[in-house]
Amino acid sequence: MQIKRGIPVSPGVAIHRVVVLDAEDQPIPRRVVPAAMLDHELKRLDDALAESTREIEQMRDQTVASLGKLADIFSAHVAMINDPTVLNQAREMIRNEHVTAEFAIYHTFNRLIGQFRSQSIKSMRDRATDVLDLQRRILGHLIGQARADLSHLTQPSVIVAHDLTPSQTASLDKSKIKAIATDAGGSTSHTAILAHALGIPAVVGLEDVTDQLNSGVTVIVDGNRGLLVIDPDAEMLMEYRAEERRMAAFEDTLIELKQLPARTRDGQNIELLANIEFPDEIADALGKGAVGIGLYRTEFLYLAAETEPTEQQQYEAYCQAITSLKGRPLTIRTLDLGADKLAPVSPALIYSASERNPFLGCRSIRLCLQNLPLFKTQLRAILRASTEGPVKIMFPLISNIMELRQAKMILSDVMEDLDEQEIKFDRDIPVGIMIEVPSVALQAKVFVSEAAFFSIGTNDLIQYTVAVDRGNERIASLYSGAHPAVIQLIKEVVRAANKAHLPVSLCGEMAGSPEFTMLLLGLGLRSLSITPPAIPEVKKIIRSVSIEQCQRLARKVAGFDSDREVLSYLRGEVRKVIPEAFDGRSLEL
Ligand code: PEP
Ligand code: MG
Repeated sequence: MQIKRGIPVSPGVAIHRVVVLDAEDQPIPRRVVPAAMLDHELKRLDDALAESTREIEQMRDQTVASLGKLADIFSAHVAMINDPTVLNQAREMIRNEHVTAEFAIYHTFNRLIGQFRSQSIKSMRDRATDVLDLQRRILGHLIGQARADLSHLTQPSVIVAHDLTPSQTASLDKSKIKAIATDAGGSTSHTAILAHALGIPAVVGLEDVTDQLNSGVTVIVDGNRGLLVIDPDAEMLMEYRAEERRMAAFEDTLIELKQLPARTRDGQNIELLANIEFPDEIADALGKGAVGIGLYRTEFLYLAAETEPTEQQQYEAYCQAITSLKGRPLTIRTLDLGADKLAPVSPALIYSASERNPFLGCRSIRLCLQNLPLFKTQLRAILRASTEGPVKIMFPLISNIMELRQAKMILSDVMEDLDEQEIKFDRDIPVGIMIEVPSVALQAKVFVSEAAFFSIGTNDLIQYTVAVDRGNERIASLYSGAHPAVIQLIKEVVRAANKAHLPVSLCGEMAGSPEFTMLLLGLGLRSLSITPPAIPEVKKIIRSVSIEQCQRLARKVAGFDSDREVLSYLRGEVRKVIPEAFDGRSLEL
């Protein structure tokens, strides 16, 4: 048994066998395959070789006209792939050493690359690049097969990977995948948010866990404390089974809250909205007690698609969301693509993918403003759907007032086009902004007259305030919503909005973290948009406190200098209100 510590990003406990997924851009660890699976592994290798050969031949045929003699390079690759010497070594490794096809290719090709690199003749040294290229191609097919297999798993499993992109996470078979554990990632990386939305336990930032695991090993994913227990002993299993039962009992008490209003003890109603990535999450969100959708992350339609979604497909997705909400409000956020949310189907993202600082680069509203056809297509789809129910538009990552004005101008252009075509839409559709950049939080007063509402996106606001990449596990301890500077910014935004009677909500992960509920109410927030599984616990806290008590707490927090002091105080206060709030959850700072 071995216990590894990572970052808890989605609560709960799961005990299952793992499926380990390698990554093309990471060293492939030596992993063993059970003897009974060796034939299957050899077939995987042959399939990947056949697929690679087909691909290279196709490229050669397509480029021979334009590249002429240079296309011979592909013939050399085909010859290499058909050369039995190296590949037989790989097959022998699988047969004799029981390693995965991935490791066999990684190891044998690395040896060959080393041999070429040590040659004194330059043309021979250059061949190392060809071998590397071929190795990546074959590994790409092997890892691609493994990823495709994830969509038809036969038994409940835990996925262990170096990292999962949001699009990979979005396309997982949710009925079979019971937990996620990754080497990389931070508490608000998009993969973490998706795992939370799926309601499955997840631990990220485990650093080298993929090197230490073979598919088939049993693990416990403890999403409460951020632990991964590899090959647990009988005593540990018993403890965790008991914890599963305790948590199920606590969940049952929360379900009873569903029909009750989110109202504080002194009678203040709090609007609890939900964050979703796909319209089919709405039923669950309503079941958990949401009264509407405060953040619909529309980019996931792109991330999960095989081709770029058309206007009609987007329109249909929005209509599905509106219909499911039966008159409840829906805030559609325009495409927040770029940085870690790269959709391979979108040509607009090709440039963005190669940026040096993608989180500071052409992402989100910036990407839309530089790709007007992409932006206008979405705005048309939203406007067309706006006749079907109460819809709001929300622009993400606004960083200065000109950007908001430009986005609104484009929206007006799209409205004019629709008018010309006599297509109906809600002319008074509210247009708000996410506040997730410190420049806008500091200038909130300026924005109140030009936005119909604010929604504070703390996931990004934190990373831009404290200069910590939200997805980087190495600096995850520096990423904290409890940082006094972050709290100060939230306070300023809420104060500016409340003074102007402008609706303001908060839709970052902080809204669903029980330790922050009292503070956010104390800072003046009366609307929160939350990942659905977290709604019941937040509601329970709301119903157990008074606004005056929360304001007192917020005043006290204003006197603290560090995130550690803030967090320790907040957790202590929440535990006084509902002692079960952190039952089983990590209380370490
Ligand atoms: C945020 O940044 O807080 C937010 C809600 O948006 P996302 O997590 O999609 O970046
Ligand atoms: Mg954001």
